Amino acid sequence: MHSGAFLLDNKSALFVSRLLKHYYTGIANIAPINIAKREFGFGDFEKKIAFRHYAFRDERDLKEYLARNAPAFVSYSSAEYQRPDGRPMESKGLLGSELVFDLDSSDIKLACKNEHGDGWICEKCLDAVKEQTMRLIEDFLVPDFGFSAKEMAINFSGNRGYHVHVSSDLVYGLGADARRGIANYITCRGIELSMFFPALGVRGVRLDGPKPTDAGWGGKLANAVIVALNKGPDTLMALGIDKRYASMLYKKRVEIILGLTTGNWDKVRIPNKAQFWSNVLGSLAIAQSSSIDKNVTSDTYHLIRLPGTIHGDTGLMAKKIDSISALNNFDPMKEAIAFKGSTVRVATQKVPAFSMGGAQLGPYNNEKPELPVYAAAYLILKRVATLL
Ligand SMILES: [Zn+2]
Repeated sequence: MHSGAFLLDNKSALFVSRLLKHYYTGIANIAPINIAKREFGFGDFEKKIAFRHYAFRDERDLKEYLARNAPAFVSYSSAEYQRPDGRPMESKGLLGSELVFDLDSSDIKLACKNEHGDGWICEKCLDAVKEQTMRLIEDFLVPDFGFSAKEMAINFSGNRGYHVHVSSDLVYGLGADARRGIANYITCRGIELSMFFPALGVRGVRLDGPKPTDAGWGGKLANAVIVALNKGPDTLMALGIDKRYASMLYKKRVEIILGLTTGNWDKVRIPNKAQFWSNVLGSLAIAQSSSIDKNVTSDTYHLIRLPGTIHGDTGLMAKKIDSISALNNFDPMKEAIAFKGSTVRVATQKVPAFSMGGAQLGPYNNEKPELPVYAAAYLILKRVATLL
């Protein structure tokens, strides 16, 4: 819905600017690690990064700037530089960079989007991207890369997803090739079945394959098939197996699973194998936003939302999340609310029903509801309402 072509009217913009100013006046703990080595960028309501190449000596310096200017978007570099305000980019003197994973619900195929379109985010969208974020951490970053909870920082993006920042000495110095390799690994690019099934397609040879206890993609693959076998024919059919084979596999599942635990895949006889495997791998891969895909790989100059600041398309906070278990229970439409205050009246366009601050709001169809300031700001910034 927010196409960028639709400007905020002056009255609505002034309303949100005041809320931003109030928020940034009282803010604490906003500085990233090594703040003096970071580049900052700021945006207005129409452009996420309108100015960049800013640097701040310390947190006080940054807080003063935020309170004075109340920008609609605040971004910073996942990279650290000798001269973060240097320009052109090459003169900054790159010292190293975090790894940042940006998971965005717009990268996930969801049926609900047919109902509400690409501009709107519903609870299902938010839940789906949260689940992906949990899987990224629990299925990849911890077991496969060995990152500890201490090295990972999670935050809500402020709009439609989550960011996971990994900062450790091991990560800082990684070159572009290593970063590309990590992104490829989690998104399952360049992972081929022949890596796990050397005898695939060879007649008369026992089909040896990965065991569920194997590290990396092999173990994930074996486990996914075991889970699907136990769930039943419907799950197997969703992965592309026809009905007859699905019920046959399900009936023989105990025997098949026993084989899989020793790496014997002979009993998994599946017609249309290629489609099945590509479906299984696809269901395990993490979809991550293409802009940050670049950041993780070669574009170390990318700027990303500063945790704790406001997202200018929603008025929600890019809220820091303390732990993986806190992420599990995190509800952005409650916990990322930044603007406090009484109620205001807005004129809406067509707005789907949504939940915010624990209350069910809408649906609205060209109505003039009185809303809490955070809900009014949300609809205004989504460009589906104006302040009355
Ligand atoms: Zn949705």
